[in-house]
Amino acid sequence: MTQRREHRSQVGIVGAGPAGLVLAKLLARAGVDSVVLEARSRSYVEARVRAGVLEAPTVELLREAGVADRLDREGMPHSGIALRFADAPGGPAQDHRIDFADLVGKGITVYGQQEVVKDLLADRIDDAGLPVEFEVSDVEFHDVTTDAPSITWTAADGSAHRLHCDVVAGCDGFHGGSRAVAGAGGDLTVAERSYPFAWLGVLAKAAPTTDELVYAHHDRGFALYSMRSPEVTRLYLQVPPETDPGDWSEARIWDELQTRLARPGFTLNEGEFLEKPGVTGMRSMVAGPMRRGRLFLAGDAAHIVPPTGAKGMNLAIADVRVLAEAITRFYAGAGEGGFDGYSETCLRRVWRAEHFSWFMTSMLHRFDPGTEAGDPFGVGLQRAQLRYTVSSRAAATSLAENYVGLPHGAV
Ligand SMILES: Cc1cc2nc3c(=O)[nH]c(=O)nc-3n(C[C@H](O)[C@H](O)[C@H](O)COP(=O)(O)OP(=O)(O)OC[C@H]3O[C@@H](n4cnc5c(N)ncnc54)[C@H](O)[C@@H]3O)c2cc1C
Repeated sequence: MTQRREHRSQVGIVGAGPAGLVLAKLLARAGVDSVVLEARSRSYVEARVRAGVLEAPTVELLREAGVADRLDREGMPHSGIALRFADAPGGPAQDHRIDFADLVGKGITVYGQQEVVKDLLADRIDDAGLPVEFEVSDVEFHDVTTDAPSITWTAADGSAHRLHCDVVAGCDGFHGGSRAVAGAGGDLTVAERSYPFAWLGVLAKAAPTTDELVYAHHDRGFALYSMRSPEVTRLYLQVPPETDPGDWSEARIWDELQTRLARPGFTLNEGEFLEKPGVTGMRSMVAGPMRRGRLFLAGDAAHIVPPTGAKGMNLAIADVRVLAEAITRFYAGAGEGGFDGYSETCLRRVWRAEHFSWFMTSMLHRFDPGTEAGDPFGVGLQRAQLRYTVSSRAAATSLAENYVGLPHGAV
């Protein structure tokens, strides 16, 4: 058996998604060294299409961190969204714009998560020459309740490694192993909600038909119209959770999108699919506390939101801002006080985002799509909430304030 190689770093980070990479960047700026371990290859994580909406505080943070040059050049600033629905059953759908700029004086930026990841990897590896170990396996955390935790792994070439750290961060997403390690102490609580639907997502080479995102409430189910660039649209359909994307031909997907997004005067641009359609389940989950000893959970490792509120990546980045500050204060000699407050500070924002994501999901999806009789009470409530949201400045402001992102530390 080959001998395990020993390494040392102040912080060990598992996962090179938005949480892990932003944490590594914020620590590097504060003079704290870290090693990032990632199960996949660099090309895989750079091509993984997921979220695309950056809240205003996320954009500010990436600018402060010095990794927003391309984002500022290529990101698409949006100052509103449209809610599309029929005012009465069977009537034509209409758009109702939620004007973020007018209501809260801020907006969001459309910029793909994989572009954020590419920028962070280029900054860390190509510009700064700092380590990211790709294609690692058998990752395990050790001694997390001591002040000398470590991480072991097997590298792509089969060699065995151990990283000795002061702090370890579980940024390994929903399917990673860090949450189980945090739970092994017995005081982790997991709160969950599942939804009776999923999203079928497609990426198409088609110029956006509209400048802003459209959230459509339709009798056949929810549809979302969004974009990634002036040439590429990202579209979603509410589907049953057990849907096999292979059952959906391109023609069927476009037909369904045309139906659910129909509005007098609206033409949906079609184009070739740039990747295979995928189905994403809808789930809410919060695991807390987000700390066990010197192991800290961040991002999807600790919480999941349904994507209707566009909060997942933004929450991951908000978590690691708090964690980076706590670690920086620790190395500045301020002790573990920042560590003690980490979970509670993050969970306040997490629960606000959980509520907003649940609210948007509940208002916009059909819980009984395709049924003849439907659920008149449920749909009546949804339509009442939609009408209220677009006719009351107070209600519209609440949606806008949550959508663009409350300032970090505000809740
Ligand atoms: C399929 C999918 C589609 C999504 N679509 C949308 C969307 O359309 N809109 C939206 O707002 N949000 C969406 N989200 C949510 C959003 O993308 C996430 O909230 C965001 O990626 C969270 O960032 P993260 O860094 O916490 O986790 P992740 O981005 O999941 O990163 C975790 C990283 O850890 C790595 N990893 C896992 N296990 C290990 C291990 N054992 N060792 C080493 N590395 C490991 C993974 O490969 C990954 O690179 C989607 C999420 C998923 C999973």
